[in-house]
Parts: sequence; structure tokens; C-alpha cells
Amino acid sequence: MTSRSILVSGASIAGPTLAYWLARAGWEVAVVERTDALREEGQNIDVRGAAREVLRRMGLEDAALAATTGEQGTVFLDAQGRELARFTAGTDDTSGPTAELEILRGRLGALLHDATAGDVSYLFGDQIAGLGQDAGGVDVTFASGREQRFDLVVLAEGVNSRSRALVLPDARKQHLGMYVAYLTIPRRDDDTDEWRWFVVGGGRGVSLRPDDVGTIRASVNLMSDTRGLDELDRSGQVIVLRRAFADVEQAAPRVLAALEDGAPFYLEDLAQMRLPTWSAGRVAVVGDAAWCATPVSGIGTTLALSGAYTLAACLAGATDHHAGLAEYERRMRPFVGKAQSLPPGTPRVANPRSALGTKAFGAALRVIGSAPAQRLGGVLGGIGSPPADQYELPAWPTCR
Ligand SMILES: Cc1cc2nc3c(=O)[nH]c(=O)nc-3n(C[C@H](O)[C@H](O)[C@H](O)COP(=O)(O)OP(=O)(O)OC[C@H]3O[C@@H](n4cnc5c(N)ncnc54)[C@H](O)[C@@H]3O)c2cc1C
Repeated sequence: MTSRSILVSGASIAGPTLAYWLARAGWEVAVVERTDALREEGQNIDVRGAAREVLRRMGLEDAALAATTGEQGTVFLDAQGRELARFTAGTDDTSGPTAELEILRGRLGALLHDATAGDVSYLFGDQIAGLGQDAGGVDVTFASGREQRFDLVVLAEGVNSRSRALVLPDARKQHLGMYVAYLTIPRRDDDTDEWRWFVVGGGRGVSLRPDDVGTIRASVNLMSDTRGLDELDRSGQVIVLRRAFADVEQAAPRVLAALEDGAPFYLEDLAQMRLPTWSAGRVAVVGDAAWCATPVSGIGTTLALSGAYTLAACLAGATDHHAGLAEYERRMRPFVGKAQSLPPGTPRVANPRSALGTKAFGAALRVIGSAPAQRLGGVLGGIGSPPADQYELPAWPTCR
């Protein structure tokens, strides 16, 4: 397609990546982000395989490698803090529970934004309120009241995208029965540069990860059949977490103390997005808004980077948007399908409820810990399964 105008909604990972490539193809690109400024929050995310190659092609790989969290590997511990298994960090594009390119989400987002800011217009503090399309374009009404017509609109608004329902009402959320609360806590002298994952039983887990700004990124996992805990107000969520982790020693008390002290945190009810199609006419979705695989897959950011690049190449290389969007979906569906096919029992297996399950998982970790980390497959998530290097990126800009 020759030069076109496009509105991308969402300025995290998928949005700016798509914007970068379409601007490079000569398109006129606007990105709207509902928050007032670029979001800095987020914990350690990995970039693997094909997504590393996307950063490389953008000339951003070295900057990303220079901004990694410094995590040296992953250690699993039992409720008493005894080591169960240890894995060193990956040393290539794909391997290891701790990837070679492990970076704070906010840092990667800022790199992508900065690489595009000169060629793309960013509109912060606004969002799509209405979409109307005809054969020639999409009329967008923004919440601010502004109106503008674009040739195409792409939603990169994450798993809880609101605009998606305007065009793709059949999107379905598939809950995994697991909540994760994320927060940042002060680093202590006895903290290490490893990802420490405490397997504590009762369908719970506690993770402590280093970052490159002198704090610790903590998260607690809670398996639960009750939906809607994420909709409680802050004090309600803190009460739930305090009760759920009251008997957990080692890492939990400092996490609970930070919550009580008012540390900002985010409670997520993990859910995958299932959409029968990723576009309707001239409006498409990309990244978590299209196919969220959840952090348990360990591949969400890899999919977002690879998917945004693929969509851009397919649009730039196609004769019209119908062909481009169809080719994007044809290429990405199998990769996304594999990423969403979590191994049986995931994430229950890694957050065992019963004493027996906890013992069995600990024993399995000891065995697996003695073999190459890749043998873990996706059982624990974050291990690069499906192998992110098995997705073949299309050529730029022909999409061959
Ligand atoms: C603040 C934040 C923190 C995160 N922390 C982690 C983490 O710790 N670990 C992890 O594995 N993953 C985390 N993620 C998710 C991770 O970024 C994604 O799984 C993955 O990178 C795919 O990115 P995405 O760009 O598709 O979607 P997201 O990263 O979810 O980004 C969506 C963007 O769209 C914006 N947005 C949402 N609705 C609208 C709207 N209506 N109009 C305009 N803009 C909108 C959001 O503010 C956000 O900037 C986080 C995401 C965010 C936004």
C-alpha cells in the first residue's frame, strides 16, 4: 500500500512498534494514549527470539541490552527459603527462565517511544470514544470531542482494551484462575540479583526480582476460583492479600508491609484474549488487545513486538488493507496459538494448592534443575515456549 494515514491507539509496546515501521514506510501515523504521559510502570519483561530481531532491525537492540535489569538467573525456593533449583540467565536470543534481554517494561516502552517521537504524532490524555467506518476510511471521535478521519485504525490497548468492543464484540476472555499483584519494594542488603521464586503452597507464590534502579520488583500469585477481586477497591484488595499470605514466611511479610504502607500496586486477574478475527473492515487489533497470552506464557512482549512488525510489513507490502490484514492474521495465528496453548495444569502446577502438590512440584524442580533450563518447556512460564526463534518474521517491506 502506498502512504496512508493511520491512528494507533495505545503507546506501550505494540503501538509504538507498529508506528515506527509504518512511519518508516512513509505513512502518516498518530498514536493516541489515554494516560497523560508515557507510562513508566511495569516489571521485568523478556524479549526473545523474533522480537530480539525486530529490535535489531530498529537499531534498538544495543540500547535495550544496555538497559537490562541485571538479573543473573532464577532460583526456586521452598516456603522455608531452602533452594529447590537454580537456572542461570540465558546467553542468547531465546533461552533461560531469565532471558538475556530482561528489561523493565517502562524502559522498553520509553525506548520505543523515543525512537518514534520525531516521525509520529503522539496524543496523550485522550482516547477513542466512537468509530464509524465506510468504504473509504474511519471517522474517529475522541473523548476530547475532536474528530478526525483516518485510512486505518489499529487498537494496541492491551488486554482490557475498551475500543475493541466497538468493532469486535465477539472478543472473549479466558480466565486462568490466578491473580497476580505487582509492586515495587525497597531493596535490602540480603537481596540478590536473582529472580527468587518462593513456592509456598496453598495455590500461592511470591517472587522477588532485581531491577537496575536499586529496588526490588515483587509479585504475589494467588490461585482463586473467585472472579472480581481485581474490581475491589484498594483496601479490599489489601485485605484479601493480607489474609491469603498471613501464614507465609520468608518473602511475604515485607511484601505485605509495603502494601500496608500504601505502596502502589496492581492486581491482575490473568486472562487470555480469544478473538475469532483480528480486524473488522479498516480497524484491526494487535498485541495483548488481540491475543493476550498472559505473563504466564512468558512471551507477551515478544508477541507484541513480532506482531506489530508483522502487521506493519503486511500493510506496507500489500496492494490493499484487506490483503494486508488477512496476511497478518495468516502469519501470526499459528505463533499466537502455540503461545496460548499453555502446558496442561498451567498455572496450577507452579502454584500448587495441596501439601502433596507442593512436594511434587519441589521434587520436579530438583530434577529439572539438574537438566538444561530449556527442558522446563512452558511448565513454569517465561521459558520461551513456544520457542520464540521459530517464528519467521516477514521481509521488510514486501512481507514475503
Ligand atoms: C503499565 C503496564 C505495566 C505492565 N507490567 C507488566 C509486567 O510487570 N509484567 C508483564 O509481563 N507484563 C506487563 N504489562 C503487559 C505487557 O506490556 C504486555 O503483555 C505486552 O508487552 C504487550 O503489550 P501491548 O502494547 O500489546 O499492551 P500493554 O502493554 O497492555 O499496553 C496497552 C497500552 O494502551 C493504553 N490504553 C489502554 N486503553 C486505551 C484506550 N482506550 N485508549 C488509548 N490508550 C489505551 C495503555 O495505557 C497502555 O499504554 C504491563 C503493561 C502496562 C500498560
